[in-house]
Amino acid sequence: MVTLTIDGKKVTVRKLSTVLDAIKKLNISIPTLCHHPDLTPFGGCRLCIVDIKGIARPTTACTTPVSEGMEVITTSPTLEKMRRTTLELLLSDHPDDCRVCERAGDCKLQELAYFYGIRENHFLGERRIYKKRDGNPFIERDMEKCILCGKCVRVCDEIEGVGAIDFAYRGFRTKICPPYDKDLDCEFCGQCVAVCPTGALTGKMWKQKGRQNLKEIDTICPYCGCGCNITLLIKRNDVIRVTSKPETINEGWLCVKGRFCYEFINSPERLTKPLIRVVPKESSAFSVQQTNPPFLSLSKELFREASWDEALNYIADRLKEIKEKYGPDSIAGLSSAKCTNEENYLFQKFIRAVIGTNNVDHCARY
Ligand code: SF4
Ligand code: SF4
Ligand code: SF4
Repeated sequence: MVTLTIDGKKVTVRKLSTVLDAIKKLNISIPTLCHHPDLTPFGGCRLCIVDIKGIARPTTACTTPVSEGMEVITTSPTLEKMRRTTLELLLSDHPDDCRVCERAGDCKLQELAYFYGIRENHFLGERRIYKKRDGNPFIERDMEKCILCGKCVRVCDEIEGVGAIDFAYRGFRTKICPPYDKDLDCEFCGQCVAVCPTGALTGKMWKQKGRQNLKEIDTICPYCGCGCNITLLIKRNDVIRVTSKPETINEGWLCVKGRFCYEFINSPERLTKPLIRVVPKESSAFSVQQTNPPFLSLSKELFREASWDEALNYIADRLKEIKEKYGPDSIAGLSSAKCTNEENYLFQKFIRAVIGTNNVDHCARY
């Protein structure tokens, strides 16, 4: 363990901790834009600068390891002036777009500009203008709003293990992009969207659906048995965005399905009642018009709506009939990764103990 002093207060942290870790342990707040606790320190935004006794210039707290007896000052008029200047530089070629930006109200850059009261900018000059918009299906990449904090690059490499994007070009032209500046073609997990501190990365389906006064509902992702925790953001009874919190079992990380594939919830094509497939008798001409309730046509097959009681009785009768006629091994059960462990356990129990066969499998084995 290492003991150091921060703003006159003693704190003990583990060896290999950074000065920023020690500052956070004391609940002292200093600005950061490129820092993420799960990612390699980067020191790119230069906002977490602190004075350390014995070091001539201010030093980035996120990249400096602690040492025994270190004396750190986190705030002074000079440090605050430098932070403000750094912010002005970051904003000098940033679009004045908060009015329509999907991230407004949830943007760390906007929050810091507000905190430091940056209205005028001394460094206005050339602006980066990228006319091309990425044609990928999920992620809106508005690189004019990118502050080159590198969080997206690190999360893609270190958490997702994909490395789909990186820094390209040099100097003022530096840009985050996929190889050869092509359209993004990756896992579309959206981890990069989740860590981006600005409106540079957002969900394409978020557009103009709502930013504030969203109702939050914590729930479990319906897609697979991993059971990731998700938070539904709801406006006027519609799910308009899905996020996940860092304190959850999945640490806020999701896959493409959990993060972006929620629009089925409000789809008018969703099945809301059981359907029973109808096999027309060869002898009699089948007429859709003569039936009541009307038949539905799905993938060239014909179905009719039924109540749950009717559907379940039908399934039970047919299984009994097949078992009696051809034996239990003529039946097989295929379960789903979308079910819970308990539901899958009950399903195999039903197939083994009630039907009497070991022909049971699970779609995840595909
Ligand atoms: S990224 Fe942030 S600062 Fe930039 S326009 Fe959007 S809300 Fe405003
Ligand atoms: S969506 Fe996932 S895989 Fe694609 S660039 Fe972002 S982090 Fe990498
Ligand atoms: S896209 Fe976002 S996360 Fe990536 S470097 Fe730019 S601001 Fe940072």
